[in-house]
Amino acid sequence: MQSTTLRESRLRASQRLIGVRHFTAILISFLLVSCSSSAQTPTSSSTIAAPIQPQGFESQAAQGRSSIGQSDTLTTPTASATDAVHPPSPTQTILPVTPTASPTATVTPAPVTETSWSYPVGIPGRPFGDGFVIRHVYSAENTWFSPGSWHTAEDWYLIQGDSTGARVYAAAEGEVVFAGANYPGRVVIVQHAADLYSMYGHLDPKLAVKQGQRVARGDLLGRIAPGDERAAGHLHFEVRTFLTKRQINGSAPRYRDKCGVNCPPGPGYWPIDAPEHPSALGWRDPTTLINLRAFSAVRDANSTSPLGEVVVATQPVSPNVTLWSSSPTDGVQPQDLGQLQLTPGERFLLTGVETDAEATQRRSAQHFKLWYRIRIPDGREGWVQAAIPSKLETGSDGRPSSVLFHFFPAVIAR
Ligand SMILES: [Zn+2]
Repeated sequence: MQSTTLRESRLRASQRLIGVRHFTAILISFLLVSCSSSAQTPTSSSTIAAPIQPQGFESQAAQGRSSIGQSDTLTTPTASATDAVHPPSPTQTILPVTPTASPTATVTPAPVTETSWSYPVGIPGRPFGDGFVIRHVYSAENTWFSPGSWHTAEDWYLIQGDSTGARVYAAAEGEVVFAGANYPGRVVIVQHAADLYSMYGHLDPKLAVKQGQRVARGDLLGRIAPGDERAAGHLHFEVRTFLTKRQINGSAPRYRDKCGVNCPPGPGYWPIDAPEHPSALGWRDPTTLINLRAFSAVRDANSTSPLGEVVVATQPVSPNVTLWSSSPTDGVQPQDLGQLQLTPGERFLLTGVETDAEATQRRSAQHFKLWYRIRIPDGREGWVQAAIPSKLETGSDGRPSSVLFHFFPAVIAR
């Protein structure tokens, strides 16, 4: 009986491994397809990994919003009512700009971006998050692990290869208030404020930190543990306003909780049929929160100076992005300023960030929103979509659960 179970378990593990290889192959083929396609935006139905293009600025405007650096000198021309939301841009192409491209260009020396928050994974020498994908975002249904539940974290995987051993870093400074458990794998929880915690799950037992230790943003916490029969190794990353909460992982959990009573790691899931959205209980959208807090800390409301820098991903989702005259929620018809060719590693000054709210009410990755306003070397500015919803994984209703990145904050992992 035991050996049968073991065999089944190994079979499931090998099937899962095949699934991971399949996922990698799909992603690679998608990238190849993207590279060979024209500058037109791909359709969402072409492949399983196809990015979901914006649904239309009007519908996004209806979502919750937060933005930084809205004020600027960029003019937003009024478009006629008959204009398509995403008109094709056959005429204007923004070429990769060299310092000599425009005699009037004002080239600001590239500063090294330092932020108070950064993504929780990285490869030394590259921007935090670069080389990774969020396979299951916050508050999407993660059908691999818990169909019928919202995922209360982001699951970070390497785009290529096994994530086991990948480095996990503190997303912000704070105190390690929990280090232990068998989640499976170890869990580290860092407290950043009286009501703000980040949680890192599925870590290798050899942690780099101890409970009670203070950490700085970007300090190594540990490494990703090997996967099990359910999934390949990955980081389960939560941000939340509580360590334990009575109805979640405290004295009286309302729903089945494998972690137990008064167990800081918590379940990692919240039932879809519960009356409250995870955000109402105190969980927060990690990538949204990181972007808002990373750049709001250096923002002066009356200043138009750059918030920092962003860098093109080593493996951007497609070879080009459209540069738009206004953000999805500016309330005016955006003008297509042309196609920006994405050169991996190229840096741009960041002058605005547009996201959903930290306590988003989203229930899939479909309307995941992360836009950056960047300044290109000829001095012009425009909005680009920094992270793209993807059907790499979906909920049981077919909506996307994954997010892939074009740009990362230029904060480098050590
Ligand atoms: Zn997870």
